[in-house]
Amino acid sequence: MKGLIWFREDLRLHDNAALYHASKLCSEGILGLYVVDTCFWKKHHMAACRVQFLLAGLAELSQSLQKRHVPLLIKSVKRTSDIPETLHQCIKKYQLDALFFNKQYEIDEKRRDQAVCAYLSQHKMKCYAYDDQVILPPGAILTQQGKIFSIFTPYKRAYLKLLLNNPNSITNYSLPKLQSIINIRSSKVPLRLPGFSSTIIWPSGEKEAQRRLKKFIKDNLFNYHKTRDFPALAGTSLLSPYLAAGMISPRQCFLAALMANKGEYDSGNKGATTWMSELIWRDFYKHLLVAIPRLSMHQPYRLETEKLKWRFNTKQLLAWQQGNTGYPIVDAGMRQLKQIGWMHNRLRMIVAMFLTKNLFFDWRLGEDFFIRHLIDGDLAANNGGWQWSASTGTDAAPFFRIFNPTRQSERFDPKGDFIRHYCPELSLLDARSIHDPYQRAPKLALQSGYPKPIIDFKRSRIATIKAFKSL
Ligand SMILES: Cc1cc2nc3c(=O)[nH]c(=O)nc-3n(C[C@H](O)[C@H](O)[C@H](O)COP(=O)(O)OP(=O)(O)OC[C@H]3O[C@@H](n4cnc5c(N)ncnc54)[C@H](O)[C@@H]3O)c2cc1C
Repeated sequence: MKGLIWFREDLRLHDNAALYHASKLCSEGILGLYVVDTCFWKKHHMAACRVQFLLAGLAELSQSLQKRHVPLLIKSVKRTSDIPETLHQCIKKYQLDALFFNKQYEIDEKRRDQAVCAYLSQHKMKCYAYDDQVILPPGAILTQQGKIFSIFTPYKRAYLKLLLNNPNSITNYSLPKLQSIINIRSSKVPLRLPGFSSTIIWPSGEKEAQRRLKKFIKDNLFNYHKTRDFPALAGTSLLSPYLAAGMISPRQCFLAALMANKGEYDSGNKGATTWMSELIWRDFYKHLLVAIPRLSMHQPYRLETEKLKWRFNTKQLLAWQQGNTGYPIVDAGMRQLKQIGWMHNRLRMIVAMFLTKNLFFDWRLGEDFFIRHLIDGDLAANNGGWQWSASTGTDAAPFFRIFNPTRQSERFDPKGDFIRHYCPELSLLDARSIHDPYQRAPKLALQSGYPKPIIDFKRSRIATIKAFKSL
């Protein structure tokens, strides 16, 4: 048998379910394919830096595949609806027998894949689809009544119980062997695409992802619980762009931490268990996306929150987007996003709370802005994070829990180092004044040209609580 592997968000050789199964089943060889569908990317507001990152990773993947005698073709389509026929033509032209791919869980991606499989089965061709973006497949963790968990803590408890009882439930797919030679030339991978150019460059590819994981486990894992909330420290793994593009598998990450923690899931080193817990949050949001399709359709988990009368003000929205709100920690976070296409998790929570709870703007405005700029943009985690912050989601922050940005700033950037880096105009302010410039050093603040706060924290907090209480 000869097979076609359709690569999407799984740009790697290590621990890749579809690649592993295809190489096992297809003794006569396999061919790789990547479909460039810019229309789909534009429709979903994919960040230009993410597209560039992906193309660079694809170029590396192509080389690694060729070393194993797997050519990689790149096909561009004008419309998503052209994909079934494009794949069919490819299978026919190269006399292949079956299509292999790893599942994506967002609704449009699922519909596209269903259309592909329906079309190919009409032409008597087989499709094999695998759960690969997650540690445990969606639906693996259910309540005793067979329902999904909507709260993280019991979900995690059940998740760890399953792992303890079945230590082999996390598969680790071995690297594909050298394949039978297929005499087809790999396509040239484009390095840029019109409409997606960005000056943000991250080192891309599977090798870099492997290097980062190794280094993080060696240097940072055991202190993760102590350093993860401080944006000025390099306390987190910075693996999210690689996980989102599938340049590394979440299973490999989880197992590496587990091994470092001597096989203990919920005890042992606190840094290791906290990091594993974050990877379980990632699965949690993906499992929810599968179980509740409306989350992919711009709808809240808590439907009653649709009645909230969100405010809107163009000037304030722009101030938030550009990092000019007058709240230094919010502005430093937003400027980090613009400059490097990534934002520290603590800051994502702070800026999202600020937009939804202080400006009281619809969380979907923030969700969309993040997707347009994040190199690690991922619908499940982004939607989960925004709905958590806005208190419209499952297991979200209670509506009355509203971060005070100044307190958060004092707590998580105590010396103001992070703020000074991204808001250099405030660099002359001391470690106390920098968190609240116009209250604590008004003269210096005015001279610096830094904007005055665009909203009064206390009043906005009271108004938001009132709005939620009226639901
Ligand atoms: C408003 C908001 C929006 C977010 N949008 C995204 C997004 O689009 N893409 C994305 O990957 N993450 C998103 N997150 C989650 C989190 O902020 C990032 O995953 C994290 O900052 C990535 O940094 P890291 O790789 O150093 O993470 P680490 O702290 O090293 O964690 C390891 C991995 O665990 C996963 N993870 C960590 N925290 C979370 C979380 N809270 N939810 C889900 N997965 C998590 C990520 O895959 C991450 O790479 C968002 C969070 C919030 C509050």
